[in-house]
Amino acid sequence: MNRDLPLPELSIVIPVYNEEAGLPALFARLYPALDRLQTSYEIIFINDGSRDRSVGILAEQFRLRPDVTRVVLFNGNYGQHMAILAGFEAARGDIMVTLDADLQNPPEEIGVLVEKMRQGHDYVGSIRRKRRDSAWRTWASKAMNHVREKITSIKITDQGNMLRAYGRNVVDLMNRCGEVNTFVPALAYRFARNPAEVVVEHEERSAGESKYSLYSLIRLNFDLVTGFSLVPLQFYSMLGMLMSIASAVLVGLLLVRRLFLGAEAEGVFTLFAITFFLMGVILFGIGLLGEYIGRIYQQVRARPRYVVQAILEQKAEMVQSARL
Ligand code: UDP
Ligand code: MG
Repeated sequence: MNRDLPLPELSIVIPVYNEEAGLPALFARLYPALDRLQTSYEIIFINDGSRDRSVGILAEQFRLRPDVTRVVLFNGNYGQHMAILAGFEAARGDIMVTLDADLQNPPEEIGVLVEKMRQGHDYVGSIRRKRRDSAWRTWASKAMNHVREKITSIKITDQGNMLRAYGRNVVDLMNRCGEVNTFVPALAYRFARNPAEVVVEHEERSAGESKYSLYSLIRLNFDLVTGFSLVPLQFYSMLGMLMSIASAVLVGLLLVRRLFLGAEAEGVFTLFAITFFLMGVILFGIGLLGEYIGRIYQQVRARPRYVVQAILEQKAEMVQSARL
């Protein structure tokens, strides 16, 4: 990465995956909003293996504003959080701000976060005043937020929202982590010394549709839970303990009954029901173990987390010759 250029105060990090329909509208609002802040900034777009015309549109935007635009191109789709981490590695600012490419996070709110950061915080999360997503998404996300709050020690009021600001110290620490499956806001919260939150607006997606299916949302939540908590595993050992005590009592009771009243054959279906229920619990437990083990496996293989195919950025010499 080129470090000879003057360092900006702000680095805006935006992951892009098949967003051709919304990018022009994003540029039209993002650049003026940042110009109004009257500070030095750079915008880093990470193309997460888009299969539409996003790359062409980003390259064109780089050509128009090479002074403040940098584009990191992945060779495939590695997910939103990997894209953001790649953006952090490229970022040179003091304050990093992440936002979505679909204009759900209004660029005009960046100033609010920056203001809060300048008050001495090293991580500023945001809470959506009114969430503009489909009803089921909002409901499911609230429920998951609640579960996560209980089993991790991470205090994020609105976990699904990516409009957040991170200080240089936090980003430097994150750059040293080689986690394959992670959740950026939670990781940052772990490293932040003085976190804060602000309330921001939220808008409907400007164009295109959500890149998260129900399946990928479930995967993402497993990343969040397994990456930051062992409570699910501990819960299973507690449950196993309680179940073995309960079954020991049952065996004892049946033994006594058999000795005094003879063998029993009634209530067989109740027993079936209990057995099936317990089989479900056991299967879920094995699956849960698999979630952790799969992640350990991915981590120990230590393959590159993402592959950068190319970076579009201005070189220091170019800036100098432009100035001459
Ligand atoms: N995104 C990405 N890689 C992916 C999925 C999404 O870089 O595999 C980007 C996407 O382009 C957008 C942001 O992550 O900028 C949030 O995605 P989306 O708006 O689809 O998520 P939602 O708002 O529905 O949670
Ligand atoms: Mg969105």
